[in-house]
Amino acid sequence: TQKLHIVGGGMAGSEAAWQAAEMGVDVVIHEMRPKVGTFAHQTGNLGEMVCSNSFRSDDDEQNAVGLLHWEMRAANGLIMTTADAHRLPAGGALAVDREPFAETVTAKLKAHPRVTVTGEEITKLPDDGHWIFATGPLTSPALGAAIQRETGAEALAFFDAIAPIVYADTIDMSKAWMQSRYDKGETEEERTAYLNCPMDRDQYEAFIDALLAADKTEFHEGETAGYFDGCLPIEVMAERGRETLRHGPMKPVGLTNPHQPDVKPHAVVQLRRDNALGTLFNIVGFQTKMKYGAQTEVFRMIPGLENASFARLGGIHRNTFINSPTLLDAQMRLKSKPNIRFAGQITGVEGYVESAAMGLLAGRLAAAEILGHSLPPVPQDSAMGALIHHITGGAEAKTFQPMNVNFGLFRPVDGLKGGRRGRKDRYKAYTDRAKEAWQQWLTQS
Ligand code: FAD
Repeated sequence: TQKLHIVGGGMAGSEAAWQAAEMGVDVVIHEMRPKVGTFAHQTGNLGEMVCSNSFRSDDDEQNAVGLLHWEMRAANGLIMTTADAHRLPAGGALAVDREPFAETVTAKLKAHPRVTVTGEEITKLPDDGHWIFATGPLTSPALGAAIQRETGAEALAFFDAIAPIVYADTIDMSKAWMQSRYDKGETEEERTAYLNCPMDRDQYEAFIDALLAADKTEFHEGETAGYFDGCLPIEVMAERGRETLRHGPMKPVGLTNPHQPDVKPHAVVQLRRDNALGTLFNIVGFQTKMKYGAQTEVFRMIPGLENASFARLGGIHRNTFINSPTLLDAQMRLKSKPNIRFAGQITGVEGYVESAAMGLLAGRLAAAEILGHSLPPVPQDSAMGALIHHITGGAEAKTFQPMNVNFGLFRPVDGLKGGRRGRKDRYKAYTDRAKEAWQQWLTQS
């Protein structure tokens, strides 16, 4: 049988290699470190965690990332079982002793009879053979350029500019309303594509004060290039003048508040649908470097968002990622070169766990293809399936930004109470349904 080549031995590449090798496919991992470094990695180990040592919540009944842990354990995931073996006490979170973790990942892969590790940087997208590119947020510049030549410059980003994403069912619709500016659009759906939150003068002034006073994160060294490319953080816009936002993303024009038709809002915050399910909305133009704690406080000052829950908070980082919804098929293959798959953070998921999860799927899908097995489609009701479905089809391609796993990506369960009160039951229903679907997929594949 043919070999599987995996570029990048980080979270995704290591997991992909393990899964494919365990399925009986010979794997070559091409990892450029330590010969060629990145600004964040410190060692030549596979599976190096570059920043925090947390895999986040380990609660597999009430938390979507905890559910992803469960699914990866059920699939004999290398990253999860090694994390479990080097677990540090951290309450409900899964914290990992990073050095022995990466050393074990490296040792297990190097000891696997079907795995070879080479230390070279790959700078092209090959025309033949089976390949998985899992080169991560810090993909080497030469390879980034090669990807850009294949996908077009627009389809590869070197920074993310993430606006906060809100669960639709936590927005107070007695204050907010759906309307596109000047009712633009051919269809009713387009004319009501935006969700609007109005502010009067006092609310606006208090909001600007809070933005200016909020705690912010500094950029890492080497991170700021591209920062002024039309994705200024809102707090930087506010620093340029108190009226800047009111003339920018918070312009109050072309909108009528049905709750108070006679009062012209002083400013309007707009939210836009973030997924086809309509369960998530992003706050338009609100990319930010405010610290997470400050973000929730400041954003809950927006009328209608007083009780909002956030599927993810905003940020701006150095991050290489492709426009997966347009470029990849449902099996994570590059449509224009199907001998190549992408996996990990470069596909537009975010975080160690999500990246490893997409590596797990890519490894299994590629191995099955090489072995001539046909796998049933990854079930959309599993956390794995919800994520892959989001990046390869469910997300809005035009505004695609990296995503963490969250329950907003799941299809609603019928017959359950919405809102805050039903949340515990709803999450339990999602995780029960997910585990069953995932287990069934593993059995069939
Ligand atoms: P990586 O783990 O980065 O692995 C990619 C690998 O590919 C690397 O080993 C790299 O050396 C190699 N490579 C790159 N280009 C080439 C090439 N051309 N040829 C051969 N090899 C190549 N996530 C969290 O969950 N928590 C955090 O606190 C956190 N903090 C972060 C801080 C920073 C500064 C950065 C950059 C990222 C952070 N992340 C964090 C994101 C996290 O790093 C990723 O989610 C995760 O590591 C992605 O896994 P991956 O396998 O896709 O990429």
